[in-house]
Amino acid sequence: MTARIYNFSSGPAVLPEPVLAEAQRDLMALPGVGMSVLEISHRSKPFDAIIAAAEADLRELAAIPASHRILFLQGGASLQFSMVPMNLLPHGASADYFLTGTWSKKAIEEARKVGAVSVAASTEADNFSRLPEPAEWTLDPRAAYVHFTPNETIAGIEWQREPETAGVPLVADCSSDIFSRPIDVAKYGVIYAGAQKNLGPSGVTLVIIRDDLLARSPKGLPTMLDYNTQAKEKSLYNTPPVFGIYILGLVAKWMRAQGGLAAIGKANAAKAAQVYGAIDGSGGFYRGHAAAGSRSNMNITFRLPSEPLEKQFVAEATAQGMDGLAGHRSVGGIRASIYNAFPVAGIDALVGFMTEFARKHG
Ligand code: PMP
Repeated sequence: MTARIYNFSSGPAVLPEPVLAEAQRDLMALPGVGMSVLEISHRSKPFDAIIAAAEADLRELAAIPASHRILFLQGGASLQFSMVPMNLLPHGASADYFLTGTWSKKAIEEARKVGAVSVAASTEADNFSRLPEPAEWTLDPRAAYVHFTPNETIAGIEWQREPETAGVPLVADCSSDIFSRPIDVAKYGVIYAGAQKNLGPSGVTLVIIRDDLLARSPKGLPTMLDYNTQAKEKSLYNTPPVFGIYILGLVAKWMRAQGGLAAIGKANAAKAAQVYGAIDGSGGFYRGHAAAGSRSNMNITFRLPSEPLEKQFVAEATAQGMDGLAGHRSVGGIRASIYNAFPVAGIDALVGFMTEFARKHG
């Protein structure tokens, strides 16, 4: 195999090697099918089996109850910023949104094009370095839904548990931490995620929606933007992203083979603790962006004493086979994205490099 480097990219991101190996092995011809998954009809029996297995493995993995539909859509999480309010925010109603980072801000901007939005709490004044405390929340008991972003990919903050909404449907943009730890799907009205971090390639978007919410969609929505179309046609109204669904299915199987979400959550916590340990143990050389109780196990953001040192850090890390460590331009500094498939050996390499870099320049 061609040598692989350590990929700290925020997404598209590292995928499990056994998944890549299986996809490569079967790319010319799926066993028993004689054609590539890229070439078979989405209305064929082999593809029926692929999409059914992907759904079954996801259901098993996350204990997704029968009350919730699983949809494989396109348009990324960004299209869900629009589809959620188009379907679930009726005229005259208002939705509550938590403003905790760049992505929830985008979700709010799109929702406001559709209907009324109330910001339940904002940490923008703190440069999105922390989550809002319950005492800061203003939740409307009549809200159409409450939207939050469990993991803010850019700031590197992550909710430890979902907010309590007293029966108001909870909608979550789980793009950057989906299935990185156990999740009680029954507590959610809608979960959505672009696949390209923890689930597979870009181009497929996972939506998990509680059945009864489907009745909310107003008549006259564009066919493709109506959750009912997608639910009724089992994601096959038009040509779905077949390759993305295939890979997502392999990733779901891989996640089950890792021992499921509890085991994956434990491994992710241990990996993140190692990097945070290197930050906290650096005597102030590295400064974490996120406040202690808000730290993300998926995207670890930190600064160095100066921007030139940050540039040098990224350049030297790249030379040592660690790619994608430059922080997002809006935050600066360093961001290490360490999703489910990111290997422990890569964490060891980063921590070793960080320690040595701090020793030389601290
Ligand atoms: N939400 C979050 C939390 C994200 O991290 C991203 C992508 N980085 C998006 C939404 C946008 O996703 P997409 O590119 O799939 O539209």
